[in-house]
Amino acid sequence: MRVSIFVVLFFCIGLNATTAIKKPWVSGESFLWFLKRHNISKDLYFNLPPTDKELCAEIIANSKYTVLADGNNIKQILIPISHKMQIHIRKEKIGHSIDFIAINSKNIHKQVLVTLSSSIYKDMYDKTKDRTLGGNLVSIFGRQMFKIMQKGDKIAISYTQTIKDGRILGSPTIISAMVEVNKNAYFRFRNPYDEQYYNKKGQTTSNFFLKVPLRYNRISSPFSYRRFHPILKKYRAHHGIDYAAPRGRQIHASGDGKVIFRGRKGGYGKTIIIQHKHGYKTLYAHMRGFRKGIRSGKMVSQGAVIGYVGSTGRSTGPHLHFGLYSGSKAINPNRVVRKALKTKLKGKEKKLFDAFVNKELDEIRLISVSNPSYIPHDNISSSCYRDKS
Ligand SMILES: [Zn+2]
Repeated sequence: MRVSIFVVLFFCIGLNATTAIKKPWVSGESFLWFLKRHNISKDLYFNLPPTDKELCAEIIANSKYTVLADGNNIKQILIPISHKMQIHIRKEKIGHSIDFIAINSKNIHKQVLVTLSSSIYKDMYDKTKDRTLGGNLVSIFGRQMFKIMQKGDKIAISYTQTIKDGRILGSPTIISAMVEVNKNAYFRFRNPYDEQYYNKKGQTTSNFFLKVPLRYNRISSPFSYRRFHPILKKYRAHHGIDYAAPRGRQIHASGDGKVIFRGRKGGYGKTIIIQHKHGYKTLYAHMRGFRKGIRSGKMVSQGAVIGYVGSTGRSTGPHLHFGLYSGSKAINPNRVVRKALKTKLKGKEKKLFDAFVNKELDEIRLISVSNPSYIPHDNISSSCYRDKS
């Protein structure tokens, strides 16, 4: 709505100025089809290196892309592929150029203190206007915790949110949380070194973990965030790990979860996306085929065969592209996947975690300062503090 007013305004003034029009990316549209629709040569895509072709499959349906045009003459197109990066197409004297540029987004830190009055979902929404925080909190602490909560019990959360042009992007990430049930404080902390949640003692509180999804020969392309390539003078990124493996090798679900996508996804070819606990998603691309019975909506267990290694989409040879997302943010699977469930942090990992916990506990105390009538009971005496579950 705001966009059309913007455009009309320019026409009324009669200026031959560049207008910026925002449009939603049509669900199911491939990047190649998008180029065709805008009369842009497909070579723009075909000449990209393989990891950049994969990035072009990261465009999120219904995300807004921007067209900068003089009348019907399109000069530039900006298509977001994550919170941090966008595809930039520019009209040149002959043809078009393409590169990947940064999005000016920033992470802001928020704190909230909620007193339970109706339900965790409603109370959390009323206070934050975010629909996902309540559900995320339940998945971090476990449903049982909230069944025994009573009216008047408190919840304190510190979380981060990505903001661009004053607008919220994606869903927030809970960094630390305290739930008080019947005067007992329970804590969860998102360890920044492995992005998993632990209690105050550094123990895992759920049996959730992710595994490498196949037996592979080698890593043909590691994960990389947007980084400037000094020779190509371009930003390069690879939002996953490419595992080289023979065609037909079984691919396993990295963790328990629900299949939310099964089909073709642009340069990723035959792709499966699984939604897991704690807001994680895993993506498996370039598959030769899917296992019979695997479809959108199906629950899968960790280790279940979901499909087979192939070279579909834009791929130079048989391999699995494995992506991991926390909300819509791509993260390095190497930081999270492991061989077995880690039940508690030890040694150096524990030391780093303890330092982080102390900082976060201060944060939670600070949240309570904003509401002086409330002090987490854990701060008064350790004798009334229980942290199990
Ligand atoms: Zn890849």
